[in-house]
Amino acid sequence: MVRILIVGAGIAGLSLARALEQRGIIPDVVERQTTWNTGGTGLFLPGNASRAFSHLGLLPDIARVAMPIRYQRFLSQDGHELNAINTERFWSACGPCLALSRAEMHSILLSGVKQTPIAMSRSIDQIQSASDACEVTFEDGKTERYDLVVGADGIRSRVRDLAFASLTSVYAGYICWRFLTENTGGVDSWTAMIGQGQTLLAIPVSPSMAYVYADRSVELGATRPYSDTTSLERLFSGFSGPLVSLVKTVPPETKVHFSQIETVPSGTWRRDRIILIGDAAHASSPSMAEGAGLACEDALVLAELLSKNGAINLALEVFVQRRERRVAWVQKQCAARDRMRTLPAFVSSPLLKYFGPALYKKSYTPLLASI
Ligand SMILES: Cc1cc2nc3c(=O)[nH]c(=O)nc-3n(C[C@H](O)[C@H](O)[C@H](O)COP(=O)(O)OP(=O)(O)OC[C@H]3O[C@@H](n4cnc5c(N)ncnc54)[C@H](O)[C@@H]3O)c2cc1C
Repeated sequence: MVRILIVGAGIAGLSLARALEQRGIIPDVVERQTTWNTGGTGLFLPGNASRAFSHLGLLPDIARVAMPIRYQRFLSQDGHELNAINTERFWSACGPCLALSRAEMHSILLSGVKQTPIAMSRSIDQIQSASDACEVTFEDGKTERYDLVVGADGIRSRVRDLAFASLTSVYAGYICWRFLTENTGGVDSWTAMIGQGQTLLAIPVSPSMAYVYADRSVELGATRPYSDTTSLERLFSGFSGPLVSLVKTVPPETKVHFSQIETVPSGTWRRDRIILIGDAAHASSPSMAEGAGLACEDALVLAELLSKNGAINLALEVFVQRRERRVAWVQKQCAARDRMRTLPAFVSSPLLKYFGPALYKKSYTPLLASI
């Protein structure tokens, strides 16, 4: 039986573990965290992500707890609707757009893995890779031999550092705040208010809760004054309209997640018997909300190739060929959206008003194609 080590039990790692189990392959998984730390934020899943999770057999569980998102609305910073995309119609060939808390998503992924051992508080120290196997030294000094090591360990990937030293994450020019809060504004769809260099977004993730995401474009050297205690009310004082109440009244007990947005620009994902998937390979800015979908698609394609193809090296080669164009497309679209969000409102508002639906269609249509 082929021996596979998956490093990281996030969306990519757990999706891969399940996809392999479905094909009769039981990998080992190591996860650095001692306990799961997935609370406090939300996740939007466009239709191609739903389709990927439906191939994993998890869509019914996700849909049971998630909110269906039938529209994506773009507003100006003074609250005027610029355009509303009927996501139900656009993604009808794929699956529903959904939103849920990350904690719920993670627990569904976790319960979908039945036989794979997941070693918590465990990580790797070194990997010696050759064309036919990898010798892995764990942090506790133990060594094991695997036919394949999969780096599914996210944007700060240790596997990537060990095997692809030149591929590192880079600052994308934005800092962001994220939290879950009571949906006091009655937000009923994905709703974003776009100001110059600032975005305020809210999505319902349950009948009573909303996920709030706020970002600001800041030069790398100028991020220091900002933190999880920054007053979002003050930061978004130039905004008026439906979402403003959500940042005005953040209850003090709310855990606000503050971070810089980073990306992993396209590069090499494979060396000998080491492969990167998910954010470890290609973290993008969240502008397309494609991170979870791409991670799950990576997992499905890799599992399919490994199970069909006795030759692991060939499977890895084909995996990179099948994934790189789609991933590069998403990264290009994210960068274009990020640039657009820095434009003055007198340019971006008419652009979104008159060309928004066409731009949406252009950027997402390639993702309707099956993987
Ligand atoms: C602000 C923001 C908003 C986003 N919003 C969305 C959204 O709405 N929709 C969407 O689809 N995507 C979104 N994304 C992207 C999405 O979160 C990621 O693409 C997705 O989580 C990637 O999954 P992953 O499994 O590759 O990485 P992760 O989810 O980061 O999982 C990596 C796992 O590996 C573990 N790990 C790390 N290092 C080690 C190690 N050395 N050894 C063992 N284990 C290790 C971690 O603890 C973690 O469990 C957003 C991202 C950001 C930054």
